[in-house]
Amino acid sequence: MSMNAREERAGSVSRREFLKRSLYGGGTVALATLAPFPGCGLFDSRRTATNFILISIDTLRADHLGCYGYPRSVSPAIDRFAAGGVLFEDVTSPAPWTLPAHTSMLTGLYPSRHGVKSLTQRLDDSVPTLAEILADHGFRTAAFVNCSHLNRKHGLHRGFDEFRYIFRSAGEIHPSRIGDLALRWLDGAGGGRFFLFLHFYDVHSDYRSKETYEKQFVRAYSGEADGTTAQFKRFRDGEIVFGDDDATHLVDLYDAQIRQIDDMMKRLFRKIDATGRFDDTVVMITSDHGEEFLEHGGVLHGRTHYREVSRVPLLIRGPGAAGGARIREPASLIDIVPTALSNLELPAYNDADGIDLNAGRRRGHGRRKERRLFAEADHNNAVRDSRRLVRDRRFTCHVDLVTGTVRLFDLARDPREKNDIGAGHPEKVKYFQKELEAFMDTKGAAAPEVELSPAEIERLKSLGYVK
Ligand SMILES: [Zn+2]
Repeated sequence: MSMNAREERAGSVSRREFLKRSLYGGGTVALATLAPFPGCGLFDSRRTATNFILISIDTLRADHLGCYGYPRSVSPAIDRFAAGGVLFEDVTSPAPWTLPAHTSMLTGLYPSRHGVKSLTQRLDDSVPTLAEILADHGFRTAAFVNCSHLNRKHGLHRGFDEFRYIFRSAGEIHPSRIGDLALRWLDGAGGGRFFLFLHFYDVHSDYRSKETYEKQFVRAYSGEADGTTAQFKRFRDGEIVFGDDDATHLVDLYDAQIRQIDDMMKRLFRKIDATGRFDDTVVMITSDHGEEFLEHGGVLHGRTHYREVSRVPLLIRGPGAAGGARIREPASLIDIVPTALSNLELPAYNDADGIDLNAGRRRGHGRRKERRLFAEADHNNAVRDSRRLVRDRRFTCHVDLVTGTVRLFDLARDPREKNDIGAGHPEKVKYFQKELEAFMDTKGAAAPEVELSPAEIERLKSLGYVK
């Protein structure tokens, strides 16, 4: 459905007014649930986006946003943004931690293909980044990032005319300065095409937000859990244990942070609107991975591919967006590059592992052939295992390459992945294992090694990435 058609349904309001209503809650926006990848397309192909803003809110679980069904009011601004755009309900991160996931997000490649699986690696110069592709097409490019994983050392700065890394230390109270930098940058953006990449670390541990947010979301609690990475490390080392009350408290602290970054998003959306950018800019909101709260016995992220970690949000707004569309078909962060290029009417990057999520509108085909999606974890810290996920629309199959353990879950009946049904479905397990073997045979780029300074190693220790 085109934006014009939606305007008609919403009544005789101007497009600008329609956007305002959906952004700031001034009116009712009907939600439409579309069939997976409908032939009618997600964007009105008569309207082309000029610019691209990609927002990554690190560690943000999809299921902790109101637009994904979360019952607490943590995300009013993001929910209104979603109501005016396209929401992908089932997006998998190809890696459960920051560096490989963002490298996939910015290259369209799986970790095995781009090769960056360790904090001592950087992206090989032969692998193009989205910023490089867009710069080649004359875009002005800028990135403001909030985590050392994304700093120049690992190569993700390539293609950005302006690249700023803002260090956030453990224990610092958010919000980060990324949002303020973005607001200033948008004021001076001027004419010409641009790509702005924003990475916020505000939801990552340590869980800290201003008192006003903690008052709203943190209930009475008398335990010891404090939401610091240092304490999570002690839990992982078996020095302390957490119970249900502790997990509930940690969720409260996490939710307060989401509410805080949502206020930053509200300011950002207002700026985008005030500068008229919603008329010519594709804006995507996503995350690199989620977070565990004991669902499968763990905390933080990086070690498993269960849904609490692997499922991330993906919301897209832009000129001609089918406001209120919800897409159930599985997608992945590797789809962001092909989809962005499509929305910007630029030639496809044929080497990408991902697909153009918007392809239906151009090629006129309906339901897609079922995809297999993969995720990989080769964390170079305390994780000794090497874990893989292979999944389709209905099943997830978790394979531990070190122990040989295989677990199969039926998301249709068991969305929380609590009941391993592998023993009762040996053929299904075999099928997924073969798919995984074929995937792992794919050769990727050789990511060059980088050296970390003692100071960098200390910083990574404070963030829980290195023992
Ligand atoms: Zn991350």
